[in-house]
Amino acid sequence: MFFFDPLYFLLALPGLILTIWAQWRVNSTYSKFSQVPNARGITGVQAADILIRQAGLQGRVDVQGTPGKLSDHYDPRKRTLFLSPDVARGASVAAVGITAHELGHAMQHAQNYGPLNFRMAIVPAVNIGSKLGYAVFFLGFCLAAQAQGSSVLMWLGILLLSGTAIFSLVTLPVEFDASNRAMKMLEQSALFVPQELQGARTVLTAAAWTYVAAAASTLLNLLYYISLANRASRR
Ligand SMILES: [Zn+2]
Repeated sequence: MFFFDPLYFLLALPGLILTIWAQWRVNSTYSKFSQVPNARGITGVQAADILIRQAGLQGRVDVQGTPGKLSDHYDPRKRTLFLSPDVARGASVAAVGITAHELGHAMQHAQNYGPLNFRMAIVPAVNIGSKLGYAVFFLGFCLAAQAQGSSVLMWLGILLLSGTAIFSLVTLPVEFDASNRAMKMLEQSALFVPQELQGARTVLTAAAWTYVAAAASTLLNLLYYISLANRASRR
């Protein structure tokens, strides 16, 4: 009965559709703009070098390669930009745009940007909560179904799972801000002509939608568990 709950599909479906659409959009946008060479022939690694100097972060941010496609990220613990092969070595509009975005995270870190610090601080708790949350919830669900106990354990599971939702929500300002910083950096650097700036913006906007989709899915998922606990509480 639990797995055929129509409410689950009602709540999960919008998140799933949004996620599939956002993934398709980021992939197709990236495919397009990774084929568009930038006029100056600058690779991601070269752009990182120029933009790090422009931001005054020389010696404070390292640049390394990482395998995969669209696996680019900034690791605050290592103070390192990890660039995927196509971004590191590609001289495309997408490569430089994505590099600037990752450097935006490094700037957030260097400037103690609040939402990034908050996100970093809650990571350990979120990891524990997401591992224990489902187990606690399902234990509570089984006990409540057998009318042996209250729904307290279910609510505890939801509390543990809510960390993931908070994480995905606080990721939104972090990502939007990194892209805003990237666009400002690119405008100031004169690395890009206006048309290329527009291309970079398109790629970064498409990437931002994947985070919106993830946050929506996580919240809708949590909402479903809240509705289950609510029903159990009323019994
Ligand atoms: Zn990012």
